Amino acid sequence: MAEQVKGGKGGGGKEPPQATEITPQSKDFSQWYLDVVRRAELADYTPVKGCMAIRPYGYAIWELIQQSLDKRFKATGHVNAYFPLFIPASLLMKEKEHVEGFAPQVAWVTRGGDEELAEPLVVRPTSEVIIGTLYSKWIQSWRDLPVLINQWANVVRWEKVTRPFLRTTEFLWQEGHTAHETEAEAQEETMRILSLYKEFAESELAMPVVDGQKSESEKFAGASRTYSIEALMGDGRALQAGTSHHLGQNFAKAFSIQFQGRDKTLQHAWTTSWGVSTRLIGGLIMTHGDDNGLVLPPRVAPYQVVIVPIPRGNWQETVLPKAREIAAELTRNGVRVMLDDRDAYTPGWKFAEWELRGVPVRVEIGPKDIEKAQVVVARRDTREKSPLPADGLAAAILTLLDDIQKALLQRALKFREEHTTRAATYDEFKCAMEGRPGFVIAGWCGSGECEATIKAETQATLRNIPFGSERVSGTCVRCGKPAEGEAWFAKSY
Ligand SMILES: [Zn+2]
Repeated sequence: MAEQVKGGKGGGGKEPPQATEITPQSKDFSQWYLDVVRRAELADYTPVKGCMAIRPYGYAIWELIQQSLDKRFKATGHVNAYFPLFIPASLLMKEKEHVEGFAPQVAWVTRGGDEELAEPLVVRPTSEVIIGTLYSKWIQSWRDLPVLINQWANVVRWEKVTRPFLRTTEFLWQEGHTAHETEAEAQEETMRILSLYKEFAESELAMPVVDGQKSESEKFAGASRTYSIEALMGDGRALQAGTSHHLGQNFAKAFSIQFQGRDKTLQHAWTTSWGVSTRLIGGLIMTHGDDNGLVLPPRVAPYQVVIVPIPRGNWQETVLPKAREIAAELTRNGVRVMLDDRDAYTPGWKFAEWELRGVPVRVEIGPKDIEKAQVVVARRDTREKSPLPADGLAAAILTLLDDIQKALLQRALKFREEHTTRAATYDEFKCAMEGRPGFVIAGWCGSGECEATIKAETQATLRNIPFGSERVSGTCVRCGKPAEGEAWFAKSY
């Protein structure tokens, strides 16, 4: 990552603009988001409409997300594999609901070199159909089950309106595809992954999520049931942060994934699929960021600590060696450290720059600190500064990083609580959606018609029906009929 830092010794060029060029959240949240993405060098626009370049700093966050998820997938018995980018068009057509759901977003390949293709290919929008085709070859007997495969890949969905990380034509993700002997096992897998996603989002991204089931109209095209985790962003809009689908036997029937059962009969497998994407980076930005820029939870911060030496007197002979010593000690203790020793930039500029890039902890060290055998430590989340003894610094920093990780989750939870309301009547519901944005919990009768009316009239979508949501004796917020349960609604990304 060192090449990320521009300038270098004796650069002397003009300093790039300060964080002040970020639009305040209160003025325009959407512009704030784009400013942070650009100024923190997470991603950039490209000549390809709707496709972003993920810059090294943004990609480093993605790598940390990947590593952390991959470890969890493997710990639950999954293995990685890779399937083709292209899908013969006829395959996509095999599962009716699936093709209807995805056809409007599919990119086509009709020529290869100077030849018209006999059968056009589509660029995968998701891989159920190509993987299902392979599973029908690989699965013959109940002894071949379960199949627990994940793929890290890119997919393409032709989007009309795009926004870096949140919705782009091409994006990176992981897609798990599993096949099971029984419906119960497939359901168990679907739930296992959903709770894995929730645990990951909360412990690594410090992003609290509501886990629950999607309504019929919001479920994945071709699935029997879709479950999601939903997060609340800083502007009060919800973000679907991950989904886990129980596909029933729908794809197994369309792609002949059949096996000989324990009782020697030929049966269709039960399959699942599940995914999270680079959208999580958008979620991170909008969950924790502030008017000074990005705020990264330590566990997914490319640099957890930035050390800024204060250049006074003969600092290169005194301060710099000490700063290097601290950097080495922190690195030995597993901390990801950046020592910003560029002399072409002032400490004040560096402070603002690394705040903007969301580094959780800044360590300042100058001649006076060396005299006092201390350093000055600043937290990005609270922006508090305090001295810490140089002796035993690594242990103190590790504790501090842990505290910040927890504090960010608590802060986000508190924000969600403050932005979640209950609506007993439709008037209350409409009022809540117009005024203070956030989640609105309301009784729902289960009808798609009520859901569609609510969406048309308030722009709020049914995010999910959380597990353990009260089986209320109340009524549907829209029609007044008995409610099936409580659903969480929000305006969403
Ligand atoms: Zn209703």
